Amino acid sequence: MGGLKIVFVASEMSPFAKTGGLADVVGSLPVSLSQLGHQVSVIMPKYSSIKANMELFHSPMGVWMGNKQEWCGVYKTEYNGISVYFIEHNIFFDRDGLYHDRNMNDYEDNPKRFAFLSRAAMQLCIDKGYSPDIFHVNDWQTALLPAYLKNWNLQGTSIQNSKSVLTIHNMAYQGNYPKSNVEYLGIGWGNFTYEKFEENDRINMLKGGIFYSDFVNTVSPTYAYEVTNGNGYGLDTALRNKGEYFSGIINGADYNIWNPEIDKYIRDNYSKEDMSGKWRCKGKLQDIFGLESNYTVPIFGAVGRFTSQKGYNLIASIAERLMNETSIQIAIIGTGDKDLEGFFSYMAQKYPGRFGCRIEFNEKTAHLLEAGSDFFLMPSLFEPCGLNQIYSLKYGTLPIVRNTGGLRDTVINCNEFENYGTGFIFNDFTPDALRNTILWAYKIYHTRPDLMAKMRYDAMCQDFSWLRSAKEYEHIYRKII
Ligand code: ADP
Repeated sequence: MGGLKIVFVASEMSPFAKTGGLADVVGSLPVSLSQLGHQVSVIMPKYSSIKANMELFHSPMGVWMGNKQEWCGVYKTEYNGISVYFIEHNIFFDRDGLYHDRNMNDYEDNPKRFAFLSRAAMQLCIDKGYSPDIFHVNDWQTALLPAYLKNWNLQGTSIQNSKSVLTIHNMAYQGNYPKSNVEYLGIGWGNFTYEKFEENDRINMLKGGIFYSDFVNTVSPTYAYEVTNGNGYGLDTALRNKGEYFSGIINGADYNIWNPEIDKYIRDNYSKEDMSGKWRCKGKLQDIFGLESNYTVPIFGAVGRFTSQKGYNLIASIAERLMNETSIQIAIIGTGDKDLEGFFSYMAQKYPGRFGCRIEFNEKTAHLLEAGSDFFLMPSLFEPCGLNQIYSLKYGTLPIVRNTGGLRDTVINCNEFENYGTGFIFNDFTPDALRNTILWAYKIYHTRPDLMAKMRYDAMCQDFSWLRSAKEYEHIYRKII
C-alpha cells in the first residue's frame, strides 16, 4: 500500500508554539506517520512568538471569509522530515498569547482567527494544486474544516476528494461563540441547527466539526468511553451518533525529547540501569525550587495548567496539612488560576525549604522536575490522555493519579503485597482521597525501598512510543478513504 498524503491543521505544535499537550501531539504524531512512509505536513498560525527560521512559500494568498477576502502569506520550514507551513496574518496572530491575553481573557475574535486558519489551510492546498488524502484537524479551533469540505462546492479543486479526521484533545473546550459569527465563518445558516452547530442559540464549533468529520477520535480509550457516557460536556450524543467512526487512541510520548538517557535539558542523564544521575537531578531541583538539600525525603512534583480540570485545588487544600504531618517536599511549576498561583506562592513563603513553586511556563524546569522528583502529582478531575504521567514513568518518577481517562490507561496501581505497579491510583475527587494516597506513597517510600526500586524500574520499562498509536491512526485513515 502506498503512503498517504496527510495534512495536519492545528493551532499549536511543539517546538514552535505550545500551551499544552496538543502541541506535543502535533510535534510528534506527524513525524511518526512520516516514518511509516506517509507524506505528512502541518499547517499552523505564524504567531509572533515563533522564532524558527522559515522561508516565504506563498504570497499573496487570498482567503474568503464570509464576503470578505483576507490576504496573507505562507512561510515554510522543515522539521524532522515533515514540512511545516505557517500562515501569517498579523491582525490575527501577532499577539501576546495564543488564545488569551496576559489576564487570561480569551480573545473575542477567536472563532474568526481559527476559522481563518482552517480556510487558509484549504486555500493553500488549492492554490498549490495539492491533494491531501486526509486533513487531520485538532480540537474546536480547526473543527470547521470538515464542515467546509462537506458543504462547499470544491468540484474541480485539488481537495475535492479529501477526507477529514478530527482529534479531540479535550471535550471541555468546544469553541462556543455568538451566532453573529455565522456569516464570517461561512458555515451557512442552514447549518445552524441543534444537530449540527447550534447550542443554546450560539455556535458550537466542535459540535459541527463532530457532525461533519469523516472520523472523530479522542486521545485515550477510557476518555472515549467517559465522553460518550455522561462526561461529554453535552456532546455525548453527538459522539455516540458517530458509531464506529468514533474511537479512543492513546497518545504517545516523544522519547527523543522526554527520555532521561538523552534529555538535553538535564545535565545529569540517567537510565534504569544507572540511576545516579536522577539523584543529582533531585539535588538540582531542590536547589532551583529553594528546597532543603536532603536526599532522604521524597519530592512530590507537579507541572501543568492551573485549571479546575487538573485538581490543583485538591493539592492546595491538603498542602498545609501535608507540610505539618510529613517531611515531604513539594515542587510545583505552572500558571493559570490566579488564586492558585497566589496560594502556592504563599505556601512557598510560609514553608521555605519544604514547598517550592515557580509561576511560569518553562520547558527546561519542567524536564528537571520530571527527572528530580520521586512522585508526580496528577489528581485530575478528568484527563483526556495526559502526557506528564507518561513522561514521569520514563523518568522513574512514580505518578499519583486519579482513576480517570488516560491516567487510568497508562498507570498500574501499586500492589504492595504482590510487589508490582508503576504508580498510585485513587478514585474519589476529594482532598482526603488524594491525601491518603500521598501518605500511602510516602509510607512505601520509607518502608519499602525494594518495592520503590522495582516500581521505578518497571515504570521506566513502560513503552508509550508513538509508533503504535501512529499505526492506529493509519488504520482509521485507510478506513475512511
Ligand atoms: P494538557 O494538554 O491538558 O495541558 P498534558 O499533560 O497532556 O496536559 O500536557 C501538558 C504539556 O504541557 C506537558 O508537556 C507539560 O510538560 C507542559 N506544561 C504545562 N505547564 C507547563 C509549565 N508551566 N511549564 C512547562 N511546561 C508545561
